[in-house]
Amino acid sequence: MSKPNIHIIGAGPAGLTAALYLARVGLKPVVFEQAEDVGVRFGGALQCLENWSTEEDVTALLAGLGIAMNFHCEPVQATTFYGPERHPHALTATRPLFYQVERGGDVGALDRGLKEQALAAGAEIRFGERVEHTDATRTIVATGAHTADAHVEQLVFETSHPDACMGFLDDHLAPGGHASLLIREGRATLSSWCFDETAPMFAHLDQTLDAVRHELGLEVRSPRHVQGFVNFSMSPPWTRGDRLYFVGERAGFQDALWGFGLRYALISGILAARAIVMGEDYDDLCQRYIVPRQEVSLANRVIFRQLGHNGYNWALHKAADNNVMAVLRRQYLSTDTKSLLHEIARQGSHPMLAEPACHGEHCQCLWCEHARLDESTEVDDCVQDHLVTPVS
Ligand SMILES: Cc1cc2nc3c(=O)[nH]c(=O)nc-3n(C[C@H](O)[C@H](O)[C@H](O)COP(=O)(O)OP(=O)(O)OC[C@H]3O[C@@H](n4cnc5c(N)ncnc54)[C@H](O)[C@@H]3O)c2cc1C
Repeated sequence: MSKPNIHIIGAGPAGLTAALYLARVGLKPVVFEQAEDVGVRFGGALQCLENWSTEEDVTALLAGLGIAMNFHCEPVQATTFYGPERHPHALTATRPLFYQVERGGDVGALDRGLKEQALAAGAEIRFGERVEHTDATRTIVATGAHTADAHVEQLVFETSHPDACMGFLDDHLAPGGHASLLIREGRATLSSWCFDETAPMFAHLDQTLDAVRHELGLEVRSPRHVQGFVNFSMSPPWTRGDRLYFVGERAGFQDALWGFGLRYALISGILAARAIVMGEDYDDLCQRYIVPRQEVSLANRVIFRQLGHNGYNWALHKAADNNVMAVLRRQYLSTDTKSLLHEIARQGSHPMLAEPACHGEHCQCLWCEHARLDESTEVDDCVQDHLVTPVS
């Protein structure tokens, strides 16, 4: 029997893990990436690979999925968080809270590591090629966020300050979200995550920098801005027949509380590839391995929205008095209350922005095929109603 012709659109973590899995079993996937290299828009930014949403350590999980650790993956077991009153709360855990990874094409970066694994396995990657139509037998769509449920603003810079990890829960710095500073070996990433759709976009980084400087007095060299959106509006099904498979953030797989979608991207890429290779139902796999955790994160977002400044102080005191890992693990367990809250969150969610999803009635592009599937959903109403802006 002839091998299927498999295209993967997008060389982010989701597309690359799909590619390495498919290539390892002898298929010859072709990955199309519009940029000139992997991770270009994140270049050098530090990100968190969260480790609290499952009992199993995320590094063991990735090893089990066949993803080798050929990139820096620095465990972080302690952090200092500040509430609105700027009192430091030392949060410590009995195992790594998250792993710090670097994004981009440099040696040691996650994207570079995944690219090398995919190429070594025999995948082909074509850079500088933006794809909107495909006639491949199977296509994995891994193009990243296409609606914006929250936005993130970052400053990536160099500093002589020692390694550090700190966070803020304060609506002046990160409305409805969190702000953070990560420093590793002289490279720093300052972030402000805004989950409040009424707050102005990308307007909180200066205050966050002031707050960090007040606490640490650090110097900032060679600063570079990174902006982007996160997309946690899941719209199943994630397959069209056995031809199109939507993965990673393009599928709306993302943690709705923190905006940490890396883990979802890595896992969903593998699941789509596995579905193609083993003839399994990708939607079923997503329902089993991705959806329950994401639903809990949506419920957590509903709770978080109610906290406000007093609630942030209370939550940080509670976390500081306990093993923060145990607190976070509890928050990520499925319960009846969480299911109810998730349902409320799902019905009330409206993305702030949408990738151009309607190029015309007969348009066959990937965006339109996805949007057309469920024209009655709120997401699609929003695509019509909201400002339509390309996602950076
Ligand atoms: C500023 C910022 C900070 C973040 N920090 C964290 C964090 O600390 N921890 C965490 O877990 N998550 C974080 N996230 C989320 C995380 O980056 C995403 O969830 C993850 O990158 C999604 O992976 P992906 O492969 O689905 O998509 P992406 O990483 O977005 O990759 C999509 C790729 O597809 C390419 N592409 C798009 N359209 C086309 C096309 N038509 N043709 C060809 N190529 C195309 C793009 O150039 C891109 O390379 C952050 C997101 C942002 C924006």
